[in-house]
Amino acid sequence: MSGIVSNRARGIEPSVTLALNTKANMLKEKGEDVIGLAAGEPDFDTPEVIRKAAIRAIESGKTKYTAAAGIMPLRKAVAQSYSERLGVRYLPEEVVISHGAKHSIFNALYVLTDPGDEVMLLAPYWTSYPEMVKLVGAVPRIVYLDGSTGYKLTPERLEEELAKGKTKVLLFNSPGNPAGIVYSKDELTSLCNLVRKEGIALISDEIYEFLTFSGWRHYSPVTVVPGLREQTVVVTGVSKGYAMTGWRVGFAMAEKEAAYRMAAYQAHATGCPNSISQWAALEAVTKGERDREKMRDEFEKRKNMFGERLSKIQSISYPEPGGAFYFLADVSELYGPCRVSGSAEFCEKLLRENGLLLIPGGAFGCDGMVRFSFAAAEKDLVEALDRFESFVKRYV
Ligand code: PMP
Ligand code: GLU
Repeated sequence: MSGIVSNRARGIEPSVTLALNTKANMLKEKGEDVIGLAAGEPDFDTPEVIRKAAIRAIESGKTKYTAAAGIMPLRKAVAQSYSERLGVRYLPEEVVISHGAKHSIFNALYVLTDPGDEVMLLAPYWTSYPEMVKLVGAVPRIVYLDGSTGYKLTPERLEEELAKGKTKVLLFNSPGNPAGIVYSKDELTSLCNLVRKEGIALISDEIYEFLTFSGWRHYSPVTVVPGLREQTVVVTGVSKGYAMTGWRVGFAMAEKEAAYRMAAYQAHATGCPNSISQWAALEAVTKGERDREKMRDEFEKRKNMFGERLSKIQSISYPEPGGAFYFLADVSELYGPCRVSGSAEFCEKLLRENGLLLIPGGAFGCDGMVRFSFAAAEKDLVEALDRFESFVKRYV
């Protein structure tokens, strides 16, 4: 153990999703016969119009620091397009461009909490949430959800949980990672009315907003209960919808003071978001819709194909994803026959024996489950299913 590292830093571990994604890529580069369904990012190239906008930005010298909260044309474009989309008005100064949705969530947590404040998270949660809460000195309060409510928070449960503690912030994510859970308008409205009544802050992570499948629609909390605008930080960005994960651009929308403080924090912590990427993001927001929809259609085809085959594999169950690009399956019935004690060992065995890399549910607060990402080429998805099926058949 190093003598120079603080106790605080000793509590931080790397992101399991990013680490396993890197591991899958490394094994493939070494020529190993591995299929990785770890990736939480679109496998498509960033659309050409967007790439060209970045090249134009470089050629025209847009390579300097920008304002800490982002370039004004992008803040204006986000304010305009999201005011229309959300049905709630945001001014450009209420939009803060950051280094990715992850960064926006961190900024929001920093600005909305004091050390020791409680942040409510819903498990299965995205792996970074509890770590980010701890990093800002707040305390994660995890509410475990299960199949009995379709892995969704109900108003009764929210009321019960709020009564127990002193929650300052609710961190909410629909469409959700890791299970693709999408709340309906009615479900969301009941929850949001309660949040409004309680007066707690809400961070609404809407990074998968454009990735919903037939029969499902994304609603933002501020759309269904507009009064929530004053209590909410809406977080989104270009990573998932426009296949721009590596460009690192996220957006946060919030009432004036929260936006001002997030920009001030960011000014000291990171300076400003990448200039070239912001110009590319502007192209995405203003001209990227057609490409975005094409990619969404492709994800829907894959989801249908993947779900049809997964549903025939015995001893597993999963909630039907309404959005994002993941299936989160309960595989705990297989642990006994496979002689493993949890999701990490299960995934290690699956990788060793059948060359398939998945993310263990332990990373999302649900050790009985594993996450499959269908953001991969169709032939890899078919091969992955073959491998998973033959692994399961070996043990049951
Ligand atoms: N929220 C969720 C639920 C995610 O899955 C991700 C993916 N990394 C993010 C936020 C962060 O997105 P970004 O790449 O824009 O930081
Ligand atoms: N959000 C994605 C995932 O869950 C990307 C990796 C990460 O940033 O965690 O896999």
